[in-house]
Amino acid sequence: MESALTARDRVGVQDFVLLENYNSEAAFIENLRRRFGENLIYTYIGSVLVSVNPYKELEIYSKQQMDRYRGVSFYEISPHIYAVSDNTYRAMRTERKDQCILISGESGAGKTEASKKILLYYAVTCPTNDHMAALGDRLLQSNPVLEAFGNAKTLRNDNSSRFGKYMDVQFDFRGAPVGGHILNYLLEKSRVVHQNHGERNFHIFYQLLDGGDDNLLNTLDLERNPQNYHYLVKGNCPRLSSVSDKNNWKVVMKALPIIGFTEEEVPTAIIRCSNMHKISQKGITQNRCVVVFQLLGVDGSALREALTHKKLTAKGEEMISPLNFEQAVSARDALAKAVYGRTFTWLVEKINQSLALKSSKGSSVIGLLDIYGFEVLQHNSFEQFCINYCNEKLQQLFIELTLRSEQEEYETEGIAWETVQYFDNKIICDLIEEKHKGIISILDEECLRPGETCDVSFLEKLEDTLGGHPHFVTHKLANGKTRRVMSREEFRLLHYAGEVNYNVNGFLDKNNDSLNRNLKEVMCQSENQILRHCFRREEVIDQKRSEMAATQFKNSLMKLMEILMSKEPSYVRCIKPNDAKQPGRFDEVLVRHQVKYLGLMENLRVRRAGFAYRRRFEAFLQRYKPLCPETWPNWHGRLADGVLTLVNHLGYKAEEYKLGRSKIFIRFPKTLFTTEDALEA
Ligand code: ATP
Ligand code: MG
Repeated sequence: MESALTARDRVGVQDFVLLENYNSEAAFIENLRRRFGENLIYTYIGSVLVSVNPYKELEIYSKQQMDRYRGVSFYEISPHIYAVSDNTYRAMRTERKDQCILISGESGAGKTEASKKILLYYAVTCPTNDHMAALGDRLLQSNPVLEAFGNAKTLRNDNSSRFGKYMDVQFDFRGAPVGGHILNYLLEKSRVVHQNHGERNFHIFYQLLDGGDDNLLNTLDLERNPQNYHYLVKGNCPRLSSVSDKNNWKVVMKALPIIGFTEEEVPTAIIRCSNMHKISQKGITQNRCVVVFQLLGVDGSALREALTHKKLTAKGEEMISPLNFEQAVSARDALAKAVYGRTFTWLVEKINQSLALKSSKGSSVIGLLDIYGFEVLQHNSFEQFCINYCNEKLQQLFIELTLRSEQEEYETEGIAWETVQYFDNKIICDLIEEKHKGIISILDEECLRPGETCDVSFLEKLEDTLGGHPHFVTHKLANGKTRRVMSREEFRLLHYAGEVNYNVNGFLDKNNDSLNRNLKEVMCQSENQILRHCFRREEVIDQKRSEMAATQFKNSLMKLMEILMSKEPSYVRCIKPNDAKQPGRFDEVLVRHQVKYLGLMENLRVRRAGFAYRRRFEAFLQRYKPLCPETWPNWHGRLADGVLTLVNHLGYKAEEYKLGRSKIFIRFPKTLFTTEDALEA
């Protein structure tokens, strides 16, 4: 048999804490690369799971594999997403504490796949509740529906989630899944009306055109070819090789009734979305858009009027002025985005109703967070700003919780805490979110300020207020001192994960995210129930401004942080090995970036600050007792004494280890390896 040492050379260590040189990024990446080469895509940093997207189907997700991981402790078996699922589940059951699993990583790294595997694990392995036998099914079926409406092909991922998702799975006292609840974050609505080259609109449109039967398309007055629809071909990429729209349409149609949609809601939900292409294609100035009005369930002439005219109230008098062509197009786009965005929210509400817990007695929760990772594109706009802000918050939470749990463990074990050096990113969070002087406040103020405001005046305001901030730079402030060239329309934030330049173009509009009042008026009179639900009359009557997009996002993030703080977290960090979506390719430069963005070295440092390795006395004795005549075949005294006898026999030096109340802590990996090797010999 291969000795443990040579196996380590070949496949690396399964836990980074066992790396001899834990400060070396090169050693870290080399370990990932070796394991990836052996199809070992999972590695731990303590209890954090690092996962590298294999871009191919591996035979490691079967029912047999699930059974292997059931009830088995982390360190006794190779790293796996099922180990995280199982340990989290058991922690919830035994400690009676709510749990959450936070999945992060850049686009295409495998977050959504990971979250689906966790859900599947619970659906297959947990006991079922008699009344709720179908709940696991409904949980699983909510995915294709949400993906059809919320995912799209992008350059980085053929099935990219364009919204953030937090899902609670509720379990009853017997450990059966009995309910679920989804929170969604910041859907990328702009995709409805615009896609970059090589990208697509949301999947559902292409699925409908490809998979809907002739009757349905006739009723909707739709043509099968997406080329006919302006909104669908902005990216010039209506077809996908990796995905069958037709099959997926069938999957969605099958899933809709399972998650509790009634017959009428199925087609209407779709119609709400398809109609917008009609507006777009046939033009608002032509008279051929009758169908649209019917589909939206609104009065035709009123909608036409609202799309081409602006209503203003000045000095108590109402004035109507015509829009020029660009303004009308932008009103149309705003309507399309609003209808889609609100319908999506409605869809999530419907799914939540179908998953809703009937009684919350004795239930505990596992939350799954699948949310966009840190993003640096060629052009970064409002969306990237929000996404990266979200990642700053998650990083802050991570540091706080990891340090807290390390400290707690040291305390419960009665071992002196050793301080850890780390970068606290609170300063960047404050820069973005602080009241009155944070970027979001300044943005809101600029949106509300009467008179001529524009993206550039926003930038100037930022410069005035944030000039001296160590994490904020603009062209003017940099004074030629920055390495990379910046345009005059950009500001740069020095995030914990690196520098990002944001172009202010469109910031005000996207933050405003408003629909003409007259369009709202028309929409809230719709005969269609769903749309009437989405566009409330109160919104028109109540002149008070609703929250702006960035503030709304900020508040929803605050709530999310509260939810996560109240739970015991586990982490899955996903890494994308190459940009070509190909199996077997490991691009070191790309991986190094992600190791940095994900804060993995920092993570390892915190984890390794004191001790590389820790294990409960009984587990340690059980494994190594053959190495000492006094502990073999069984030790009959106190566990701590047994461990002490064993390590004395093995010649551990005092500085190499410490005994806590229930665990042994080993400082260096080498000590453990020597012991492991003795076992093999
Ligand atoms: P985004 O942020 O764009 O939503 P993501 O991190 O959710 O990205 P996924 O959609 O989960 O990325 O993964 C992208 C693709 O990578 C999947 O469609 C699948 O082809 C492949 N993939 C990811 N994880 C695995 C895995 N464990 N096994 C096999 N293939 C995988
Ligand atoms: Mg995803």
